[in-house]
Amino acid sequence: MSGESCPRVAEPVAGQGTGGLNPGLLNEPEDQTGKGLGRVRQRMTPEEKKKLMDVLKREALRGLGYVRIWRMLRKDGVNVSRRTVEYWYRKFFPERLGRRGKYLPRELRITLYEEVLRLRRQGLGYKKIRRRIKELYDITLAPAVIVDWCRGIHTPYGGIRIPTVDYLKPSPELAYVIGVVCGDGSAVKTRGRSGEYVIGSQVKDREFSERFAECLGRILNRSPPTPILVRGKFQVCVRSRTLYQLLRKPIDINRIKNFTEHCEDCMRSFLKGFFDSEGSVSKEGEIRCDNSDKQLLNYVKTLLNRLCIDVTGPHLGVKKDTPIFNKDMQRIYMRKKEVYYLNIRAPYRLKYYELVGFSIRKKQQRMENYFRRRGLLGGRLPDHPL
Ligand SMILES: [Zn+2]
Repeated sequence: MSGESCPRVAEPVAGQGTGGLNPGLLNEPEDQTGKGLGRVRQRMTPEEKKKLMDVLKREALRGLGYVRIWRMLRKDGVNVSRRTVEYWYRKFFPERLGRRGKYLPRELRITLYEEVLRLRRQGLGYKKIRRRIKELYDITLAPAVIVDWCRGIHTPYGGIRIPTVDYLKPSPELAYVIGVVCGDGSAVKTRGRSGEYVIGSQVKDREFSERFAECLGRILNRSPPTPILVRGKFQVCVRSRTLYQLLRKPIDINRIKNFTEHCEDCMRSFLKGFFDSEGSVSKEGEIRCDNSDKQLLNYVKTLLNRLCIDVTGPHLGVKKDTPIFNKDMQRIYMRKKEVYYLNIRAPYRLKYYELVGFSIRKKQQRMENYFRRRGLLGGRLPDHPL
C-alpha cells in the first residue's frame, strides 16, 4: 500500500485541532461552550451509543469526517461530545486521521474518478461535474482534483497499480503464485492499528523462492522482492491487499477459477506452483501432493484430469492429532487437521513430467532419474515454459 499518490479531496474536517485523547472523557458529553462547570456527568444510553456507531460507520464509509458526523448526530438529538465521536472515528478508521490524512477510501476515489471522466466525456464543465458528484455521492470534490483528474495529471490509481481483484490480469505467473499460496504459501492480514496484507512463502529451495518472487514482481508490476534466509529457509513476502483478497484462506475456488483455468498455460502453471509447494517425488518415481484442504485437492484433480493426467485420491494421509516433530522449533506439535494426498498414476507420470514438472531442480532431477532408469527419456529433455 505504500507509495500511493492520492489526489486531494476536500473534506470538511480540515483544521480541527485534535489534541491528546483522554480516555476518561469517553462517553461523557463535553460542553463545547466551556461553561460546563458543575455540569452533571452523563453517560450515553445504549440506544445513543448504537446510533453513534451506526451513523459513524455509515457516514465514514461515505467519506465524511468526524466533525460532520458529530454535527449530524447533534441534529438527530444524540447528546455526544465531539471528542467521543473523534475517539471512535480514530478507533475504526485509524488510517483516515493518521498516515493517509484526509483521503477517501481508495475504492471510493476510483469510483468518483471514473464518474468524473464519464461526465467530462459527456461535455460537462468542471463546476457542473462537481455539482453532479455532490448530487450523486454527497461528496464535495475540490475543484483542483477534478481539473487534475480530467487533464490526466493525477489518478487515484497512482502508486497502486492493481487496486482490486478486477484489475488483475490472468497470466501464467499469476496462476503460479496462486498455486504456491494454495499450497504452502500464506496470505494473511497482520494485526494491529495498521494491519498489513502480506502474501508470502517460506521454502528451503532457493530457485523456488526466486521463481515465486519473480512472478510476484511481474503480476504486481513492481521489482521482485528479495528472498531472505531465515532459519535455513528462504522467505519471500510482499504486501498487497488485492492478492490477499484473492488468496486468503480457505481458498475460494470460484474466485481463483478465472485465473487458473484461463488457458492451458495458466492451468499448467497453477499445477506447477501447487506441486512445487506441496508435491513430492519418491525414488521409486511416485509423484504425489499433500494438503489438508480436500476440496482444493479435488479441484487440483479435476485440472489434472483436464490435462489427461490420471490421478488417484484424495486419500487420507495423516490423521488429525498425530504428533509431528518440528525440527526448526525443536518441539512436538499435534496435527490439527487431517492431511489428504493425490497420487499420479504410474502410466501418467511421464505425461505429468512433460506438461507440468517442477521448478525445484531436486524434484525434477529425481523424476528424470526415474524415467532414465526405465529408458523412458531420450538425450534431450523437453523445455518447460515457466
Ligand atoms: Zn492464461
